[in-house]
Amino acid sequence: MFLTRKHRIALISVDGDPAAEIGQEEAGGQNVYVRQVGETLAAQGWQVDMFTRRSDPEQARIVEHQPNCRTIRLTAGPAEFMSRDVLFEHLPAFVEQFLTFQQQEGVEYSLVHTHYWLSSWVGMRLKRQMPSLVQVHTYHSLGAVKYRTLGDLPPIGHKRLAVEKSCLETVDAVVATSPQEREHMRSLVSTEGRIDMIPCGTDISRFGHITRAAARQQLGFSPADKIVLYVGRFDPRKGIETLVRAVGQSDIRHLPNLKLVIGGGSRPGQSDGLERDRIESIVQDLGLTDCTLFPGRLGDDNLHLYYAAADVCVVPSHYEPFGLVPIEAMASHTPVVASNVGGLQYTVVPEVTGLLVPPKDAAGFATAIARILKNPAWRDKLGNAGRQRVELGFSWSSVAARLEQLYLQLIADVATEAVPVEVAPADVKSDAQEVAA
Ligand code: UDP
Repeated sequence: MFLTRKHRIALISVDGDPAAEIGQEEAGGQNVYVRQVGETLAAQGWQVDMFTRRSDPEQARIVEHQPNCRTIRLTAGPAEFMSRDVLFEHLPAFVEQFLTFQQQEGVEYSLVHTHYWLSSWVGMRLKRQMPSLVQVHTYHSLGAVKYRTLGDLPPIGHKRLAVEKSCLETVDAVVATSPQEREHMRSLVSTEGRIDMIPCGTDISRFGHITRAAARQQLGFSPADKIVLYVGRFDPRKGIETLVRAVGQSDIRHLPNLKLVIGGGSRPGQSDGLERDRIESIVQDLGLTDCTLFPGRLGDDNLHLYYAAADVCVVPSHYEPFGLVPIEAMASHTPVVASNVGGLQYTVVPEVTGLLVPPKDAAGFATAIARILKNPAWRDKLGNAGRQRVELGFSWSSVAARLEQLYLQLIADVATEAVPVEVAPADVKSDAQEVAA
């Protein structure tokens, strides 16, 4: 029966390599999402190829993650790190390489799930040439929201907005990861097009299986420490400055044994390195150097320990369409204080799993953090409710099951209509001219 057949599918994430180290410049939630969805679907019987752009000549062309799940790095533009804002001109080469790979392997994908607006363009070009190809798209970030507060659009801005609109109106389905993101799509992008709401997930077997005391012991913290944790990239939009000011300009700084832990990687000279330098200098100016730790990029060996050790995890972002960090903290029985924006309003339930505060409101963050630090029994209650919420709605297996249903339904719908055509890589040449337009 068609509805139960598992297919060969492609996840396309031009700018977010699913096999990359996470937590550094431009490698965050999107990379984690693609890899976790890919691996979970492969474990359920799908054949999953995840396509990204090669950004380093030393990188393996193909990384096998597990049976039926691999990352394939296509050559599109120079094999070096490039900011997302300059990748657009290399997309025709990416499309061409994708078609060549498909031809060489003798396979044809039933469905592409594209990630971020750049990949949506790739998917739409592929779909022009493969009418039976199903395209599902997840934005991860909306230009329409990002640019709302900017006076002048960056050079790529108009193109991005146009591609996002055309994507929503023409692809088979767009996945919103929170009701807030869906609302933004409708009010700021287009009233047309299909939207399905399926949240992001987290690995509930990785997080939440060590006690606070044991995690602290492993990391060298004391049971009496008051640990305030940030996890994420160094990017001004993440609002780390708000957290540092909340601690530095309030009574929190006088709590004995206060530890402000700012976890995440950075590369000297790159934009995340510059933001880290800026945050470090604010820490210094506020006299917080002695109680602040920068453990660097957190990975498989210690991320779960930091979440478990913390009294509170703070997510002070100016905007998040979803935000994986809060659900990872909640899965670890740790309450979250987050900005009252985007998907954070969906994942964090105020007074139940944490607290919400207006973005950039350092005094508001200070009050919320202090309430939790001063009441360990309430901290535990919030933490346990957070774990429960994640188990119920945000495990990767439940997310993948919902995606699987969507994929199967769309593949079945399209199969009844499509007429197959021959596809040659040369057919995408004209895209190169269109890109310039
Ligand atoms: N992350 C990590 N190590 C770090 C910093 C971040 O593994 O040192 C991961 C974090 O656990 C989460 C992701 O990076 O899974 C960040 O995703 P989120 O959606 O919160 O933010 P984004 O980076 O997409 O803006």
